[in-house]
Amino acid sequence: MGKIIAIAIPKGGVGKTTTAVNLAASFAVYEKRTLLVDGDPFGACSMSLGFTQERQTSGLYEVFNFMHSMSQAIQRTEIPFLDFVPCNVRSTQMEERLLRLAENRTMMKNVLRQVVPHYDYIIVDTPPFLRGITTNAMTCADSVLVPVKSGHFSLEGIEKLFKYFEWIHEAANPTLQVEGILQTMYEPHLKVTEITDRELQLRFRKYLLKTSIPKNTHLTESSFYGKPSVLFNATSRGTLAYLELARELIERHLALTEPQILPLAHQQSA
Ligand code: ATP
Ligand code: MG
Repeated sequence: MGKIIAIAIPKGGVGKTTTAVNLAASFAVYEKRTLLVDGDPFGACSMSLGFTQERQTSGLYEVFNFMHSMSQAIQRTEIPFLDFVPCNVRSTQMEERLLRLAENRTMMKNVLRQVVPHYDYIIVDTPPFLRGITTNAMTCADSVLVPVKSGHFSLEGIEKLFKYFEWIHEAANPTLQVEGILQTMYEPHLKVTEITDRELQLRFRKYLLKTSIPKNTHLTESSFYGKPSVLFNATSRGTLAYLELARELIERHLALTEPQILPLAHQQSA
């Protein structure tokens, strides 16, 4: 059964989409069957994967409107183990309609149900606010991955997200977990980084992931050219950091699902 990871925080420009695209591509490089779902009407995942509007024949919009099934909306990508569902919103009217449909918070859960068994990982990118599609993503997800960029306002975003997380946990998804807090655009030796590091250690230590993503211009360039970073520059620091993040998460998930080895005494008496 695929693990659904929502990438969310109510703060713009912190690396949600960059993380969604490059983490999904990295899982695929490790030959994990991965589906990336663009839950942001802005459509930045499509641009980062080179899906121009002409190439998008279907997407979340059509699925939420019962025009297409989820399987019809799934597109193949240049990476063999990576599939993609664009948001496919092309006007403000369409965006308003999608957000209205997303007021039903179980919409995404219902439409993903039929495809979850075909994947190891489903990554959902979300917009920088909590209502609508983000609520949908958190309602169907197994976990939430929280990207933060150094600076005070990102930390406020975490507080807001965690309060919302508690509400979702109680009202809609009691098995939802925090996958971890991921530091993005990390620049050591800056004063603001030092302050953010200290605050994160103090307030959110148990959620901090080991991997952090350095500030790296190749990540911006690759999305500009419509490629996941691993296809643009396979050895850049940004690419390697996202591969490392995927490895950290895969290892953790394997450790949680591996059968426990019984102690020898127990085996003998069985
Ligand atoms: P929004 O909330 O507006 O959707 P977002 O949280 O999805 O934003 P991104 O679009 O991923 O953020 O990133 C914002 C900008 O920062 C983009 O131009 C992106 O290319 C750049 N960026 C993201 N991560 C890095 C990084 N590690 N190093 C350098 N630039 C980065
Ligand atoms: Mg985004």
